[in-house]
Amino acid sequence: SLNLNLNLNLMSKSKCGNVDDHTLTSSLFDYHRFDHQLLQSIAYDSLVWASLHGLLVGHKSIQNSGTVPGVGLVHAPFALLPNPFPEIHWKQACHLAPLFNELVDRVSLDGKFLQESLSRTKKVDEFTSRLLDIHSKMLEINKKEDIRLGLHRSDYMLDEQTNSLLQIELNTISSSFAGLSSLVSQLHRNTLSHYGKLLGLDSERVPANNSVNLFVEALAKAWSEYNNPRAVIMFIVQAEERNMGGQAIAVIYFRAGYTPADFPSESEWRARLLMEQSSAIKCPSISYHLVGTKKIQQELAKPNVLERFLENKDDIAKLRECFAGLWSLDDSDIARKAIERPELYVMKPQREGGGNNIYGDAVRETLQKLQKAGSEEDAAYILMQRIFPTTSAAILMRDGCWHKDHAVSELGIYGTYLRNKDKVIMNNQSGYLMRTKVSSSDEGGVAAGFAVLDSVYLT
Ligand code: ADP
Ligand code: MG
Ligand code: MG
Repeated sequence: SLNLNLNLNLMSKSKCGNVDDHTLTSSLFDYHRFDHQLLQSIAYDSLVWASLHGLLVGHKSIQNSGTVPGVGLVHAPFALLPNPFPEIHWKQACHLAPLFNELVDRVSLDGKFLQESLSRTKKVDEFTSRLLDIHSKMLEINKKEDIRLGLHRSDYMLDEQTNSLLQIELNTISSSFAGLSSLVSQLHRNTLSHYGKLLGLDSERVPANNSVNLFVEALAKAWSEYNNPRAVIMFIVQAEERNMGGQAIAVIYFRAGYTPADFPSESEWRARLLMEQSSAIKCPSISYHLVGTKKIQQELAKPNVLERFLENKDDIAKLRECFAGLWSLDDSDIARKAIERPELYVMKPQREGGGNNIYGDAVRETLQKLQKAGSEEDAAYILMQRIFPTTSAAILMRDGCWHKDHAVSELGIYGTYLRNKDKVIMNNQSGYLMRTKVSSSDEGGVAAGFAVLDSVYLT
């Protein structure tokens, strides 16, 4: 208790933790109802934990924080307490991970499907067009990828009205936060093991999250499948990182290369082509990368398309169950509906990394502009049903301060997949990522300042 008093004293000197008055209800997960001093104390302990365990990022305002290790670090934004999530939907999402892994692999083998599905997009989207060019070159030389490695993350929201788990998107390249999300789950388990009794919460209800180790294990297994003990694993982290050092490369992991900004000149595209031509295992290969586009997500949701790639009826039904409404813009009926009720849709270009989607009135304006222009520009986008998840009472930690807000959450399930010819070596669900953002924000990534890292509390 000495410790607690000391903590409270320290915290009360800071400007953190202003209380805003929300109606108090007695629900177990109305985190806003907890006593101010108790929350201060949890916040303090969490900040200490984050500092000691590396739940940290470089602070944007400090110049050297991105280049010099150990300089200008700040805790990653996180939720103070884990997000309640129904166990039945949690299990459903975990169960889907190996099915999506397998689907990505099957679709990646159908070069014609990928080229045809993206043919209209190719005409108007320069970035996708360049990826497709690399893909066509590989088809021409009949390039075979015997060993295939996928480190994926399928993202979901729980739609409140239908109480169903709906997929937001499937990431096949640079699936982020495997490292920090493991730490947030550990932090929440630690918090509940200390404060669980007071809060009425049980640390065992936060599922263990081993995503970072499982990703590394998959990379290591791919390396050993390559079977050259002198070869190395190469991480592509930025456009300039093309130095191959004269060493054999067993595995190329792309932590960059998903956005046009990663290709500032022709030399980056030449390097990307060279890597695809090489015998190294690419994570992802150009085909896996293309399977992760929004356009392919939309094509796979059409009737009878999953059946082209999978045999098991039960698996097909399970995958389809999590598909939200997805449409191509050449469907004039849907464009009309979206102009009438834009708030019910999200408009998405073929981009990754957050901040690219169009919402609300901007959907109407963009659609009307496209219709007036009458060009084929519409093929750059897909339309998606807007999902409205249940709002919860969250406590968000950022820059050492907490504040209460109404929030919605997105659950990502990591999947690892490794095969060598006919032998599937790994096909697993591999941890999770929970992101929570203020409910008033449309998009809002963690880095952008709206969302925080979170974990799951099974209900
Ligand atoms: P990215 O590849 O850039 O991450 P996403 O498809 O994941 O693109 O969209 C970014 C964010 O936009 C998501 O994290 C989610 O918050 C929001 N979002 C995307 N699609 C929907 C949707 N159908 N309904 C509600 N929110 C969505
Ligand atoms: Mg994405
Ligand atoms: Mg996303």
